[in-house]
Amino acid sequence: MARLFSARMTSLTSVQSRIKLTDGHTIPCVGFGVYNMRPGKETEQSALCALKAGYRHLDTANIYGNEKSVGDAIKKSGIPREELFVTTKLWDNMQGYDNAIKALESSLSKLGLDYVDLYLIHSPNPGKEKRLATWKAMEKLQRDGKIRSIGVSNYGVHHIQELPDNGYSLPAVNQIEITPYLARPKIVEYCQKHGIQIEAYSPLTMGTKLSDPKLKKIADKYNQQPANILIRWSVQHGYVPLPKSVTKERILSNMDVFSFEISKEDMETLDGFDEHHVTEWDPTVSA
Ligand code: NDP
Repeated sequence: MARLFSARMTSLTSVQSRIKLTDGHTIPCVGFGVYNMRPGKETEQSALCALKAGYRHLDTANIYGNEKSVGDAIKKSGIPREELFVTTKLWDNMQGYDNAIKALESSLSKLGLDYVDLYLIHSPNPGKEKRLATWKAMEKLQRDGKIRSIGVSNYGVHHIQELPDNGYSLPAVNQIEITPYLARPKIVEYCQKHGIQIEAYSPLTMGTKLSDPKLKKIADKYNQQPANILIRWSVQHGYVPLPKSVTKERILSNMDVFSFEISKEDMETLDGFDEHHVTEWDPTVSA
């Protein structure tokens, strides 16, 4: 296990380095999140800035209302489609088989794309029946080539396990909030056992813990910003963090997490910060 981990780490040298998913596709190891960005100029400029800086992985969602601006940034960047990894998410009100087909068409049209690299069920909240019907549609859309990888977000272990229990495939990805302050050991153990890639949303705790003296102490030791320690912690655990920023300096500095390595002891210290700190919502516990 330790040897596997270090082999994997040495192969991750920038935000463009890719990790293999169980379905055979690959995903850039750090993504750029666009939640809470105003549609139009703010999203377009931030996403374009990120793409020019070197990010190749963008994480949006229908509910963010900014898919069109993300699509505009992609077009303006001139980066070949195959170099990019674009994720969007199906919102709760569009769960169900027919709705899911319509929702993806609408997202593709706003993004100006023929396919997305990853499509996620945004949350398990609408209940089991809707979740399963949605997943059935996702499997079809994947077969049709409109989605490369299919995944879920905010799923607890019981939500994921109901897929194979009902004859469906396992997701390639589970996108959850996970930071040193919210370790989620049960979901991590389950996902790792089944090869489900964990994506870490709100990896900077939405800013709520960036001034924590415990974190600052470790950041100072590595001559890094607290944000870099949180992003690097995620990468070293094998998660795919999705930091968001509308600030050019931060967009750039958040990528700069491949020139240092957090020691095993300091990773353990960071792991000890767990206090189940949820920043916004926690659908992983829903029925
Ligand atoms: P983050 O944890 O990424 O934190 C973003 C906040 O941190 C912003 O206020 C930003 O400010 C600030 N920030 C960014 N970089 C730095 C830095 N280097 N130093 C200090 N402050 C910094 O929050 P998000 O909730 O946006 O999560 C990231 C992404 O995860 C989302 O954009 C979205 O793609 C995804 N997500 C998914 C969810 C889901 O349910 N599936 C839920 C929530 C997020 P500023 O922008 O002003 O620079």
